[in-house]
Amino acid sequence: PDFLLSDFNTLRVLGHGNGGTVYEVLHRRSAAVFALKMVRADVSLRHQVQREVDILRRTVGCRHVVRFHSLVRTPSADVALLENMDRGSTDALLRRRGRRPFPELALAAVARQALLGLAELHSRQIVHRDIKPANLLVNSASEVKIADFGVGKVLLRSLDPCDSYVGTCAYMSPERLDSVTYGADYHPYAAGVWSLGLAVLELHQGHFPLLPEGVPPDWAALMVAICLGEAKGVLPEGAASDEFRAFIDCCLRKESGKRWSVAELLGHPFVSGADRDESKQALRDFLQENSDESPVLKEPRKLGQIPPISI
Ligand code: ADP
Repeated sequence: PDFLLSDFNTLRVLGHGNGGTVYEVLHRRSAAVFALKMVRADVSLRHQVQREVDILRRTVGCRHVVRFHSLVRTPSADVALLENMDRGSTDALLRRRGRRPFPELALAAVARQALLGLAELHSRQIVHRDIKPANLLVNSASEVKIADFGVGKVLLRSLDPCDSYVGTCAYMSPERLDSVTYGADYHPYAAGVWSLGLAVLELHQGHFPLLPEGVPPDWAALMVAICLGEAKGVLPEGAASDEFRAFIDCCLRKESGKRWSVAELLGHPFVSGADRDESKQALRDFLQENSDESPVLKEPRKLGQIPPISI
């Protein structure tokens, strides 16, 4: 159903993305809070927004994908109304309080739910292609959901190689960066497993794990680190539990054919062995210790009185 922008008050800015801003908004009549993603009307961005919405419409019923409510197009902006993930992204959580890493037990809850999200997407033939901490969102119920389908792609009929250069290079798997050496058994779902493993490892380390802390990720350094480096070296014995190290190893195998699948990883002892309530509680505790201090706008502003255009 359509919505009127004038029915909402903006509460605060949740984040910025490519060409757009995400606001936390209050629907005055129902007192419900949503996230509202506003992208300025621009031909190329419009195309991207439309693609994102087409994909989001296919994710209805996914418990671990951020829920999409509706899209309104105005002459100046495209506005998507989304489920509000009130604890923000795992990336923002990490940056708060000086990149304090997530405890392993909390990460078991993050990894399990992100894997469930990937499983839901894959069962609908959707490839996300941009899994990274900034796109794993958390709410105060300790739920983790996958967001941002700006570069996702629906695989039609056969498995399309999805070889276009999109997504965040830092989280790209070796076969996506170097299809000649690593692309023999290319499978787009395996690329998502790599990105997820790297994202979870980053949350464990507190910084992008394949480069030394503080080194800005230039293109050549990334290529070398991803395609030639050894992920094993990042987590030497004693740096983490054996289960966690084994889990990361199963995600970050260079040859995509040797990487575990999402279904296999859901049965991995790191994810399945941890008591679910306990790991969710650990995540809840971590969220509480790192609660958001970002200011709420003093005077909630009305969003413009722009009439919605049906799509
Ligand atoms: P882009 O696609 O332009 O990169 P995103 O959709 O990733 O934009 O949103 C940018 C940031 O806004 C995210 O990293 C996150 O911090 C915040 N954000 C996005 N969607 C939501 C949401 N549904 N709930 C809460 N915060 C969100």
